[in-house]
Amino acid sequence: MTAAAKIDILVSEVGPRDGLQSIAAVMPTAAKKAWISAEAAAGVREIEVGSFVPASLLPQLADTAELVAHALTIDGLSVAVLVPNFKGAQRAIECGAHKITLPLSCSESHSLKNLRRTHAQVIEEARAIGELLRSLPAARRPCFEGALSTAFGCTIEGLVPERKVVELAEALMAAGCDEVGLSDTTGYANPTQVRSLTRAVWAAVGRDRLTGLHLHNTRGQGLANVVAALDIGLTTLDASLGGIGGCPFAPGASGNIVTEDLVFLLEAMGYRTGIDIDRLLAVRRLVQAALPGETLYGFVPDAGLPKGFVPAAAQAPALVAE
Ligand code: ZN
Repeated sequence: MTAAAKIDILVSEVGPRDGLQSIAAVMPTAAKKAWISAEAAAGVREIEVGSFVPASLLPQLADTAELVAHALTIDGLSVAVLVPNFKGAQRAIECGAHKITLPLSCSESHSLKNLRRTHAQVIEEARAIGELLRSLPAARRPCFEGALSTAFGCTIEGLVPERKVVELAEALMAAGCDEVGLSDTTGYANPTQVRSLTRAVWAAVGRDRLTGLHLHNTRGQGLANVVAALDIGLTTLDASLGGIGGCPFAPGASGNIVTEDLVFLLEAMGYRTGIDIDRLLAVRRLVQAALPGETLYGFVPDAGLPKGFVPAAAQAPALVAE
């Protein structure tokens, strides 16, 4: 497989950020680098390697700058980072990240609790980041995504009205984001809602400005939601190797959807990911060794690939989704 092979769906690995920020253990930097390299070698094209939050808040991610530098040495890999604010974006740009993601929680109570900012304040940060990006030469300008977190419901406010999510998507685009993404931070989403909310945001900002979905498997609905996303034509899906992070309220539930299970689902359905599933499964050993005592999730890793499994690229053309 070459790095330039055509893919149908971009699997974006968020374990080094979303997974690791959810567990207390600090993974050694060398192990993170090995993880990133091994996943890229398995064919993963985009990895969110960390977050530019103060180390006092998330010591697990204190080495993000070093990881960006490492990931940038890997040919063909899109290097993504989370930025909580303007300062974080400045650091990400200095480091040369390809993609920066600013989260905006659609529930204002959640936003106040997690980012200690109102919606208006986060939009203002987005505007400042947008301005900074416009001042840069095109070659140094990362892609700027506004992530609509708690888009499918919030643990504090419960229901988040669709209208609110659409309004915030429009505000982020007006502030200077290149695209928005929908995040089911709380694991509340169902497939009907995935289709409905995606269509509503598309109608407001344009189909090409929302291509990605970030899912958690808190209630076991993650892969059902993936199928809904595929049905309507979303093309980027976030996942975490081994689903690390888990959920303290739902024992047995992984954190993000599990990369290995996602890749199996996609490839079995005929969607090319560019990922070699056997090599991907082998990365687990490395991650498990670096996180002793931490639970890794996933059904495919336990059960193994079905006998006679044929990845998408090797399937008869009639079976390959277009
Ligand atoms: Zn998440």
